[in-house]
Amino acid sequence: MIAHTNGGGSDQGSLLGFWNNRFAETGERVGAHFQVMSDGTIEQYADTDLRIDHAFDGSRFAVGIETQDDNDPSRPWTKAQIDAIVDICNWLEVPPQQLAEHGGDGIGWHRLHDSWNKSHHTCPGDVRLQQLKQSVIPRLGLEREDLSIMDPETKKFLDAQFRLLRLGDVGPGAETHPNNLQDILRKINETDDKVDKVQADILRIKQHLGIPG
Ligand SMILES: [Zn+2]
Repeated sequence: MIAHTNGGGSDQGSLLGFWNNRFAETGERVGAHFQVMSDGTIEQYADTDLRIDHAFDGSRFAVGIETQDDNDPSRPWTKAQIDAIVDICNWLEVPPQQLAEHGGDGIGWHRLHDSWNKSHHTCPGDVRLQQLKQSVIPRLGLEREDLSIMDPETKKFLDAQFRLLRLGDVGPGAETHPNNLQDILRKINETDDKVDKVQADILRIKQHLGIPG
């Protein structure tokens, strides 16, 4: 997965019209698989198995997530946007590691490698890059229900890191992606080794955040 911030204009958060107009005018098929709007609404423009040109050579293997910034990338992602990005990444089972330049699994950002960013812009911007490292990557791999069986102290610690998502949560993202939400819920129901997994998750998060023990 490669994260972006909207370089182009958007129509109330949607990029569909912008990209369709660009194709009509120039024949260029650029885009992204997802757009995450400021209110957390997710639009999916293409199946994740399809190649979409969003990051030059990185487009060969990476899913692209665009994020609404209303032409101001110094504006931080909203909480709802971060939640939605995490939901997409967890649905795609993106592991909490940096995506390598020539492929594999993990999370990257547009300007990470020159081969992904031949036009040398700063996408996704310093502010959003910090949020990606501090607020998105530590949450990857955590299922919503995992949080409910943690000991109170750990739960409190994690609650402070991000809003607790609950089973049956509804919202713009859930409403526009009922199938994705179903996938997430199904996966939770099938997980038997929750306790071990949660312990491993906690350790990983603490290590990531530099917290001892
Ligand atoms: Zn970009």
